[in-house]
Amino acid sequence: MKVLMNAGPWLPVPPDGYGGIENIVATLVPPLRELGVEVVLASVGTSTLAVEELVSVFPEGQFRQLQRPYNQVNGVVPAHQHAVVRAVRERSDIDLVHDHVEAAGLATLAALGPDDPPVLHTLHWDLLKHPELYGTFDGGGRVWVNGVSADQVARAPEALRAHAVGHVHLATPLAEGADQRRPPEKGGHVVILGRITPGKGQDLGVRLAHRYGFDLVLAGPVGPYHSPADLAAVSTSDNPDVAYFRERVEPYVDGWRVRWLGTVRPPARDDLVAGARAVLAPLRWSEPGGTFVVEALALGTPVVGLAKGCLPELVDHGRTGFLTEDEEELPDLLEAAAKLDPAESMREAAARFTPAVMAARYLELYRQVVASASSDRGR
Ligand code: UDP
Repeated sequence: MKVLMNAGPWLPVPPDGYGGIENIVATLVPPLRELGVEVVLASVGTSTLAVEELVSVFPEGQFRQLQRPYNQVNGVVPAHQHAVVRAVRERSDIDLVHDHVEAAGLATLAALGPDDPPVLHTLHWDLLKHPELYGTFDGGGRVWVNGVSADQVARAPEALRAHAVGHVHLATPLAEGADQRRPPEKGGHVVILGRITPGKGQDLGVRLAHRYGFDLVLAGPVGPYHSPADLAAVSTSDNPDVAYFRERVEPYVDGWRVRWLGTVRPPARDDLVAGARAVLAPLRWSEPGGTFVVEALALGTPVVGLAKGCLPELVDHGRTGFLTEDEEELPDLLEAAAKLDPAESMREAAARFTPAVMAARYLELYRQVVASASSDRGR
């Protein structure tokens, strides 16, 4: 099977640190190729992932363009998608397009003709976005979607859900051989790992840390700012995450009970998480896929959080973490997490969240989509 994997124009694959979707593509492609799938990657020129062929129109990632006004950047995705559509049309050997480009990927690939290859579009994001597209979507029997958790798909608008072939949980290379590694030495601190933004609930975490007296470390960017020094240099900003941080999180960051480190990249990120008593998820939104959850488990760190989004699918309450509906219970559960066996989390990650498990599941979906598209053409 030959798949055109569309990772979009924003960052190279693998990305240099930050880049959720590009990281997932970099995690998925090597085990897919081991399963015999040939991969044509649509990305930017600086991508270094080993594939059969690279299709690109931009020499390098266009991520920095996202800070510019819409009318100056609205050609970026169309230019990339145009190259993808041309590549699909000019050659007859693509069996399936696996697309990861938010909204525009779905719309442009649905506009191809009945003789063009079928498409599997992975929904990596919050499906309350783009209601006009998702609420009216018609894939014409050629375009199918998958979510990154069952909860996410269940919440999708009906028209989009009608195109869903299921969900595939996210994977992390850290899960590979996690059951063979020695469980980490634990410190007393708790970590919230992720972008600082209202959905991730850092404001609740910092208040609980002060009220109940536990040490909390926040790791993650605030909007485009990756370090406290970068953010301090900015006096005014339209970015809503900057306002959230300044008004609701920063007043509690005292450098002792609560610390904000900015973005922490591997391997320092992995040491920080592995050494933590727990990773805290005081979520306000329905977390769609939760990369940080599978990473924490792979590093032997239980996850304690509010039972929202994908968390109940990923965390086994009482074994690999604790979940609750009641935010006031979180501090007691953080205490209890210290008594969980880190080896249980590592075993769980090695069984469920490796790149090989994710690739095998995608290959099943590819076969299902190709089969249903060919039976449609035969009608
Ligand atoms: N991340 C990181 N350093 C940080 C904060 C986050 O490397 O300081 C990584 C984190 O480990 C995960 C990704 O950024 O791999 C965030 O993905 P997730 O699905 O958890 O959240 P999203 O931002 O996609 O909602």
